[in-house]
Parts: sequence; structure tokens; C-alpha cells
Amino acid sequence: MRRVQASMPAREVQLARSVFREVNERIRALAERWGDVEERDFLCECGRRDCREAVSLTVDEYDIVRAEGAGRFLVAARHAAERAENVIVRNGRFCVVQPRSKS
Ligand SMILES: [Zn+2]
Repeated sequence: MRRVQASMPAREVQLARSVFREVNERIRALAERWGDVEERDFLCECGRRDCREAVSLTVDEYDIVRAEGAGRFLVAARHAAERAENVIVRNGRFCVVQPRSKS
């Protein structure tokens, strides 16, 4: 389910983000199956074409990112686009961001 709004990031960025999120969901599923409690490398979901940044999170931390549904993204600490996104969580390793909609 995807709502299209004029304020959404460029289509290309959106597509990249959804692909990276899908990969992260699989990383999470594997971590759970293997009972990992250590941090694992997830992918930055900033959607920039050249971004290959890994972000270390525990499964519990990852679940916090996803707790509010599909509107939030996991990005590397320096990859938050603060002009267009609200930063919900920020620490030394990662940020959780929510794209702002213009109204
Ligand atoms: Zn990034």
C-alpha cells in the first residue's frame, strides 16, 4: 500500500528505500531464527544512490524502528536529511527518521 503525495521524496529514493527495507526485514528474520542477541549489520535506508552504509543494531532496536509502521526509516547517523525528515531517534550509530509532509 503506497500513498502518493507531492511531498514524498523522489520516486527513485522511495523505491530504493523500500528495497533496502525489504532486505533489512530479511536480515531481521534471520537474526531471530538464529536467536541472535548481538548487534547485526542492517542497511542504511536513506535511499541515496551511492549509499552502502551498514548500520549496527540489535533486533530489539530494529523493532523500535518498525514499531510505528512503514512511515519511518533506519538511516546511518550522518544520513538523516533534516530538511525533509523529522529525526525521531538519534544516537551515535543510527537515526530513525520520518519524512515530513508539507502541508
Ligand atoms: Zn545512507
